[in-house]
Amino acid sequence: MSRLIVISNRVAVPTAAGGKGAQGGLAGALHSLVREQDGFWFGWSGETVENPATEPRFQTAGGVTTATIDLAPQDVEEYYNGYANATLWPLFHYRVDLTDYRRETAKGYERVNETFAACVAPLIGPDDTLWVHDYHFLPLGARLRARGLSNRIGFFLHIPWPPTDLLLSLPYHERLVRTVLQYDLIGFQSEEWRDNFLDYCRRELSAAINGGTGQITLDGHSTIARCYPIGIDYDDFAAQGQTGEARQAQQRMLSSTRRRTAIIGVDRLDYSKGLPERLDGVARFFETYPGSSREVVLVQIAPPSREDVKTYQQIRETLEGRAGRINGEFSEIDLVPVRYVNKGHSAAELFGFYRAAKIGLVTPLRDGMNLVAKEYVAAQDRDDPGVLILSRFAGAAQQLTDAVLVNPHSPDAISHAIHTALKMSLDERRRRWERMHDSVRTQTVQQWAADFCRDLAATTPMRTEGRGGLLRHR
Ligand code: UDP
Repeated sequence: MSRLIVISNRVAVPTAAGGKGAQGGLAGALHSLVREQDGFWFGWSGETVENPATEPRFQTAGGVTTATIDLAPQDVEEYYNGYANATLWPLFHYRVDLTDYRRETAKGYERVNETFAACVAPLIGPDDTLWVHDYHFLPLGARLRARGLSNRIGFFLHIPWPPTDLLLSLPYHERLVRTVLQYDLIGFQSEEWRDNFLDYCRRELSAAINGGTGQITLDGHSTIARCYPIGIDYDDFAAQGQTGEARQAQQRMLSSTRRRTAIIGVDRLDYSKGLPERLDGVARFFETYPGSSREVVLVQIAPPSREDVKTYQQIRETLEGRAGRINGEFSEIDLVPVRYVNKGHSAAELFGFYRAAKIGLVTPLRDGMNLVAKEYVAAQDRDDPGVLILSRFAGAAQQLTDAVLVNPHSPDAISHAIHTALKMSLDERRRRWERMHDSVRTQTVQQWAADFCRDLAATTPMRTEGRGGLLRHR
């Protein structure tokens, strides 16, 4: 039997206690696949040590085998904080202005990809299938091919792929994209990111593209680029809602907001999430509708993220300043209209907060998918559902077309959307929610993983029909 080997930057080790919700839907879905297909999940341990060993540490917990390596401080600085999170992340989120390109971090990224290839290659058998995840490992497939691996190798990009004109600003873009074409199947969150990728291959590499199947042919070998929108683990998240922890969180939020309408935002503190712009939108709403700051409260949960990267320190300062200014302007002795909570919460608590909030405000400037939007929908009371306000620039907007879609750059648009949500009739809220709920309930993370693995299994591995591979049934 072919084993499945998952490779990603960080590895989630199953916990005995927590249940799946404690680790997120993606981790749970990958655990199931690895367990069923007798494989393992390989990645960085999260530990930084001088002179790390190249032998991976194997561990089995909850029937899931993981293999991890440590990284040296220079590797973390150059590969993780540097090229992955200060170069690729901003550029792929369309933020050329924040993209920091340095030769040494680019080299560190190549070096760590090579280290990963060197560590994992000896562990792979001829019939194993590999599934590589995300922007940390764009060139990993090519590194494995260079070591003679002809296995099926799939790649999924969890973040957007930028338009060609933006990608051209990255030095050595062509070399990077050519390495990506060494995968047999390349998955994207939305049609838009996939089309951007195809556009680059067509315009810059003169590859032959079949727009219908997503087949890309270059230098005599073919690969497939397709769209697989990720979802949540619906059943597990719904089960979180049945816990005492979720009910307590809901009660806490309801009693603390008293009769005011709560708007909830939940985002990692990341500039791609549009948090300062969101606060501007809420401030515009308070200005436009006098008295509304007494009626409505924004609860913004924003746990810190990637604190070693400068742009992340800056966004935190910006946001703190902005929240302070709005509260200075609109607070009264007995009320504070913006609650900015700088720490993380469990899935069960988030369920309770979502349920207590009549509006979910999800306004990233650019987002590969955005699972918070889907969780907000999943947590609503079917008899009296809240309204989701969603950025049109999130991948999730492709599925959740019944949300109130907004331009997150426009304070007026956000203000108007909040007003629309508050005025929306129960009938219309129910109608919109039913359709969104159907999508969230059926397009789950399990479905996403199954679709990707099915298509990867249908590719022809390189060793029998040349490099790359074709989907036989398409
Ligand atoms: N999340 C969490 N606790 C928090 C804030 C967020 O568990 O305090 C989870 C949230 O429930 C969601 C995920 O983090 O499942 C965020 O995923 P999303 O796709 O929205 O954004 P990302 O952080 O991956 O860019």
